[in-house]
Order: sequence, then C-alpha cells, then structure tokens
Amino acid sequence: MKQSKLFTKTKKETPKDATSASHKYLVQGGFVDMLMAGVYTYLPLGWRVITKINNIVREEMNAVGAQEMLMPALQPRGIWDETGRWESLNEIMYQFEDRSGKEAGLGATHEEVIYDIVRRNINSYKELPFAIYQIQNKFRNELRAKGGIMRGREFMMKDLYSFHLSQEDLDEYYNKLIQSYKNVYSRCGLEVKVVEASGGIFTKNYSHEFQVISEAGEDNIIYCDACDYAQNVEISKFSVGDDCPKCGDKLKEGKSIEAGNIFQFGDKYAKELKGYATDSNGEKKPILMASYGIGISRLVATIVEIYNDKNGMIWPSSVAPFDAHLISINKNEEAEAIYNKLREKGIEVLYDDRDSSPGQKFADADLIGIPYRLVMSPKTEGKIEVKKRNETETVLKEVDEIIELIRK
Ligand code: ATP
Ligand code: MG
Repeated sequence: MKQSKLFTKTKKETPKDATSASHKYLVQGGFVDMLMAGVYTYLPLGWRVITKINNIVREEMNAVGAQEMLMPALQPRGIWDETGRWESLNEIMYQFEDRSGKEAGLGATHEEVIYDIVRRNINSYKELPFAIYQIQNKFRNELRAKGGIMRGREFMMKDLYSFHLSQEDLDEYYNKLIQSYKNVYSRCGLEVKVVEASGGIFTKNYSHEFQVISEAGEDNIIYCDACDYAQNVEISKFSVGDDCPKCGDKLKEGKSIEAGNIFQFGDKYAKELKGYATDSNGEKKPILMASYGIGISRLVATIVEIYNDKNGMIWPSSVAPFDAHLISINKNEEAEAIYNKLREKGIEVLYDDRDSSPGQKFADADLIGIPYRLVMSPKTEGKIEVKKRNETETVLKEVDEIIELIRK
C-alpha cells in the first residue's frame, strides 16, 4: 500500500476526551474514526488489524470443531420475551417499533436467536454436541461509552455457543475452549488471567472472564502471580495480601481489561425456550448451552494499551497492519523497486512515498507502529536501514536479508 493513497491521514490533534493511550493513538494514527460516542468506523489500518485478529480467532475456533455462520442483528421482541430479557435488558438493548408497529431490537448478544434455531432443528442425540460461532457487531446502549473503542455502543464480538446433552460433555468442551481462548490471546501478544466471575447482567450462572492486567481497565481482580488463581473482586472473599487459596503465595490486586467472558448456562435456555432432544434411550433431555465471547474491537484497544510508548503504538507482528513500513527519503525510484520486491515475496508493506519531511515520516512510522521500519535515503548507499519499532538500534541490510528477517 502506498501511503500517499492510504484513506485518511495521521492527525496532529488528540481527541478532546482521550484519557487512554489506545483512544489517543488509534484515532491519531488513522485506525478508527468516531461517528458518535461509542460508534466507530474501522479505517483501512484498523480494519487490517481486526482482520488479523479475526483470522487468529477463526483458526482457534475451527480447530475445536466450531462452525462459523452469521445471525441477524435485527431481532423480534417475541424470542426475547420468552426468556424475560426484553424487560430485564431494556436499558442496555436498543429497542424500538418498526413502521408496522412491531417491536424489535438490535442484538446485544445472541443466545435467544441461536437457541431458537437450535430448538427448531435439533431433535436427537445423534446431532449433538456441536458449536456455532459468528463474528458480528453487537449493540449496547452503554452509559459509559468513552475511551474510544474500548467500550462501544456498536462493537465487534466473536460469540460462540456450544450445545450438549450432558453436563460432563459441556464441562469438557468448556475447558477445551478455555485453552482455545488462551491460544487466541497469546497469539495476539497478550497475557491473560482466567478469572472466576459471576455472570454480570447477562446471567447469574457460572462464568470465567479473560482479564488483561492494565491501568486502563475498568475491572478489578484479585490474582496470584505464582499460580493461575484469579477472581473478580466483585465475587472474591479475598483481599490483597491474603494467602492464595491454591498455592499459599500472597495475593495481588490490579485493574484489568475484560477481553473475553464465557458462561455455562446449563438447562436455563432449554427450560425457557423449550429445547429438547432425545437421548440414546429415547428419553427427552434438555439441550444444554454455554456461551463464549471475545471482544474483538476491545482487543484492538487492549493490545495498544499494552504495547505503546510516548511516540505511538508498537504492534506485535501477528496483528500488525503491515509487516514493514518502507520510507523513502529522496530515493523514490530505488524504494519503489524494493517495495515491489518485498510484495512479490509476500511481505505486507506500507510504503511512504509521500512528499513530506523525513521528520514527519519518522513520526508517523512511530505512531502507526509497524514492526519493521525500512529507510532508503542517499545516506544508506543502496542498502536499506532497518529498525524495529520497539528497539533503537539501526542496521544496514540488503533486501534479501530483510526478507529473511521479516519471514522469521
Ligand atoms: P463489560 O463487563 O465490559 O460490560 P460484559 O460482561 O457485559 O462486558 P459480555 O456480554 O460478556 O460483556 O461480552 C463478551 C465480551 O465482549 C466482553 O468480555 C468484552 O471483551 C466485550 N465487550 C462487552 N461489552 C463491550 C463494549 N461495550 N464495547 C466493546 N467490547 C465489549
Ligand atoms: Mg463480562
């Protein structure tokens, strides 16, 4: 991609209300654009990051046999009345009447829609267990929609639903998904705490949150560094300095970002929406469900909170919008040849071919945070100056060496 053609430019001004690094840098860097509080466009740079995260998520969900599909965001009141959530979620859910006077809402979550499909289609143990997921925008009338895409009113979520005839089978899949989630976060460069939690506003059942320790978070967790013990302070009987109930070390407390949340619903939806299947003895059994959410757009912001410095973002290579940022300083002809060669070798390059000052180009490269900065200038004498975004050292290399370096 040539930077002269990239849709939208970096900005000098920071958003007025920005208090977090992710809000500031994602807007300034031209990754997202605010339409209204809590509602954002993912611009080309931001969309490239989202696409990379989604592909990691897809690989991990497909690896445990889940099937991807897409459900409607526009939903009739009826199915939500069957679970009582049209009333109980009336503050958070966007609800309205259409022109014919029928009540409808925008999906804040999709348990009702998926379970309605399941009850109409699944009848026998032979069709179970299975898991379905989608990556879709959710709508929630959040009061505290500030901080950029960290808490949106329209935001992207991966939601997966698994269906089982026995609790043992559900437990087994739930634990498998915990591992899949850990894989997703670690591939995105994030360390997570798997935290015991209550179901929040969506359920009273058993749940786990995936929390990333960060001052930009809105949650508080009690956790142990020596082992994997962690609880949300909302439900914890422990406080900071207490002995860890698992290993005896001292517990810590910290602010954290909820990057994911998984829930066991057991037979709750079977009872409310009447979903049953026959087991191998011909007996009617409730179809058990668990739900598993990852906040895709919140993950983008979370990664920036963890990886930034005073000059901008520092993307982990797995989710970076490009592999390399090639900068030409009065060497456009040579740089263009390098740009073409790198692309032929499958390397994703943002090529700064603009007519701007070197200072502006370097500042933008730091702000955008692509892992490798490559500079061609009269000073580099036919070679290319390579610098990693998170290091200060520069080295001169030939293009073939750079291809090898980036491929590693
Ligand atoms: P929170 O406690 O942050 O309000 P939640 O518990 O209501 O979130 P879930 O319904 O469990 O959220 O949604 C699954 C995931 O979607 C969350 O773990 C979070 O990462 C993400 N998420 C939830 N609400 C938002 C939002 N308003 N904006 C961006 N991401 C969100
Ligand atoms: Mg939650």
